[in-house]
Amino acid sequence: MLPIYIEGSPQFESTLSALRTRGTGDLANVTPAVTEIIDNVRRGGTSAVLGYIEKFERRTSKALVRHAGPEAEGGFGGAEALARLPPEVRAALETAAARIARYHERQRDAGDLGPASVTANGPALQAGFSYEEEGVLLGMRVRPLRRVGVYAPGGKARYPSSVLMSALPARIAGVQEIVLASPSADDATLAAAHLSGVTTLLDSGGAQAIAALAYGLPELAPVDKIVGPGNAYVACAKKLVFGDVSIDGITGPSEILALADESADPRLVAADLLSQAEHDEASYALLATTSAKLAEAVARELDAALPELTRRAIVEASLSTHAAALVVGSRARLAEIADQLAVEHVAFHVADAEGLFSEIGTLGAALLGDLTPVAAGDYLAGPSHVLPTGGSARFGAPLGVYDFVTRASLIRYSGAALRTQGPIIEKLALAEGLQAHARAVSLRLASKAIDPAKR
Ligand code: NAD
Repeated sequence: MLPIYIEGSPQFESTLSALRTRGTGDLANVTPAVTEIIDNVRRGGTSAVLGYIEKFERRTSKALVRHAGPEAEGGFGGAEALARLPPEVRAALETAAARIARYHERQRDAGDLGPASVTANGPALQAGFSYEEEGVLLGMRVRPLRRVGVYAPGGKARYPSSVLMSALPARIAGVQEIVLASPSADDATLAAAHLSGVTTLLDSGGAQAIAALAYGLPELAPVDKIVGPGNAYVACAKKLVFGDVSIDGITGPSEILALADESADPRLVAADLLSQAEHDEASYALLATTSAKLAEAVARELDAALPELTRRAIVEASLSTHAAALVVGSRARLAEIADQLAVEHVAFHVADAEGLFSEIGTLGAALLGDLTPVAAGDYLAGPSHVLPTGGSARFGAPLGVYDFVTRASLIRYSGAALRTQGPIIEKLALAEGLQAHARAVSLRLASKAIDPAKR
């Protein structure tokens, strides 16, 4: 089931070239339908959303918007849902939430989002930096976004893990209001929402949920940014509302590239490929290896494992259309191919995994060594599993605390600084023909306030 291509053959080159331009999926065929849904939600509000839930999700929503709190008081009942879970599932979710929170606390403290700082001359900064240069105070202030929308998919499967992986980075960045939208909030999803500090639940999925988050409903204020994965309708809606709100990116189907040499265990390589192929019929399961023998062994292991998989139909569809083994002549070529493909998950089944990782510039998440299943990154390890797909690792990044902040610059001139720099500003303004800009400087230079004798 795994097609094997040897470097140098025409099929190898054409396969690699097609993979390089795979993109995050063709959204053109859903764009007209999604445009109509967004327009109708903007016009029709709550009743339009409820209508689409009946049409696309074949159910009735009894409470479209609910806030955190006990069910008896009209809340979404996250704490009760957590208590209803089987104890081992509850413990697993709590462990995952604690690990993901710790990772993102580190991420916050490592970046420019660190603890509050106050400068001697300037205003208090929540985070960022400021300094004085030649009488001018300059700085950058970093503040959390006020309201964000987190989408957790729920069409073909439930993803409480995606709730933790999207909402916890927002909470740790300091976002006060986190709205979770999902078409199928079961107990595990509600429990994950509770553990992540979600403040509001929107009981809808699809493009109608994205439109409601972006433009608001009478009972729901619009959010500033929408994050999280979803199917083509969700991705297309995010793309269309971008500009009115921010988005984290367009997430396509999950994908994996396993890099392997002759030392790799073919059974484990095949297991990692299968774990991503089961996400979606359009998921990519790719292998690049220096050993043709290993590629053949992985192909045999994939075939042997199929009968025991519960999502066999999805896996078979994915492998028959989106899988490939690329056999190359050297370890350096493995790094080049990984760089060119910029894949979401890269599993390193090679000797000196760290060494090879250091040679690759673009990827979403690196799973280093045979003992690191991709599933560890998907569920428990700590970094967010919301990752750039379809080659967007070239410019994107894993979802993180940095996705949930705004930055502002600050500037304050002293009189001495304006006397020195004002004439330069005037020259630049007049060179652009913007006389009113120059005037705003010259008025100040002529004013008494700037006279050194009056200061
Ligand atoms: P989903 O929640 O994204 O989509 C379900 C919604 O699609 C429904 O609520 C419905 O409103 C809408 N819809 C369905 N048919 C429609 C139609 N004909 N017209 C208009 N709207 C329609 O759930 P899904 O479908 O299971 O897709 C989830 C996707 O997210 C998968 O591709 C999965 O691989 C991906 N995913 C990615 C990650 C990641 O981190 N990269 C994590 C989890 C899931």
